[in-house]
Amino acid sequence: MHADHTMGVVPMLRNVLFAPSIDPNAYVPVNPPPRIEVYGPAGIRTFIRSILNMTLTKTGEKYIVHELLRDEDVATPCEPPEVLHSSELVGRDIRCSEDGFWRGFTQGVGALGDVVVDAGPILHRDPCLGYIFREPEAPKRKIVILGDTYDPSPILPLCTSPSPSLLIHEATDAHIPREISPQNKRTPEVVLRTALARGHSIPEMAGEFAKTVGAEKLVLNHIGGRFPAPRHGRDERTHVIREIERQATEAWQGSAGGSGRYAMAAWDFMRVAVPAPPSMPPNETHPIESWGVDPSEGLVYVNNKRRKW
Ligand SMILES: [Zn+2]
Repeated sequence: MHADHTMGVVPMLRNVLFAPSIDPNAYVPVNPPPRIEVYGPAGIRTFIRSILNMTLTKTGEKYIVHELLRDEDVATPCEPPEVLHSSELVGRDIRCSEDGFWRGFTQGVGALGDVVVDAGPILHRDPCLGYIFREPEAPKRKIVILGDTYDPSPILPLCTSPSPSLLIHEATDAHIPREISPQNKRTPEVVLRTALARGHSIPEMAGEFAKTVGAEKLVLNHIGGRFPAPRHGRDERTHVIREIERQATEAWQGSAGGSGRYAMAAWDFMRVAVPAPPSMPPNETHPIESWGVDPSEGLVYVNNKRRKW
C-alpha cells in the first residue's frame, strides 16, 4: 500500500471510467457490469473509495475492488450500500488459504489459453505481495511480479514447477564502484545495510532469487532515484545502469554474460515479450522473437540476449 505503488491508481481509474454523460436523456443501464476490477491488499478498497470521494470524482462507468486478506486483516465493508462510492460495486473479500497464499483468485482468457493469477506474501518492512500470472495448460508460461522486498522467499512455492518465464524483481539500491561513479562514497557494506534496513534489495539479491527459482528472464525494477534513467548516449548514467544489470546477471548466471543472458533494468514503457516455446505455433500476438531497444544507447535485446544495435 506504499504511496509509490498506489498513488497512480485513482488517476488511472478516472481515465478508464470516463466522466459521466452531461446529456440528461443519455441511456443509463440498470446493474451495469464493472468496467475494471482492482485486486490488492487490505485497505486498497478504502484508499480508492476515500480518494474518489474526497476529490468529488464522478465517473460514467463502474469499478469494483477485491481485497486479498490475510487472517489478521480487516475487510473494508461494502455494507450498508451507502458506504460505497457512487461508481463502486460490491467486491469480494478474498481470504488466503491456510498456507498463506491466494491461488487462482482470478483468471482471464489469454491468446493461447486461460491465464490464472496467484498471489503470496514477500518480506518488506510492511506487508507486501507478489503476483504470479500463469497458463495452467500449454504453453505454461509464468510471469512473477514482485513488490518491494528484501527477501521474497515466502512466495517461493508459487514460483517453482514450472519456473518463471520472466521474473520482475526490485533492485532499489546498488554499490557502484568509483571507476564508474567517482562521487560514490558508500562502501558495499553500507549500501547493503541501508537497503536491508529499508526493506529493499540490491541487484545481487534479485539475481540470486532468479537463480533459485530458475527464471528464464530477469527484469529489475523499482531502481532508486539516485540512479536516474540514462539520457541519450553513453554517459555515466548509462554505465551505472549497465553495472546494476551486470551485478544481477552475475548472481543469476555466474560470470556476467557467459550464458548470453542478461538481466535488464526496466525503463518507462519497456516491453518484454515472453514467447511460447518453439513447439507452439507462433501467432501475431506472440512472436517467437522478443526484442526491445534500450533508447539510452545502441543496445537491442533479442530474447533477453544483448546485441549491438
Ligand atoms: Zn516502493
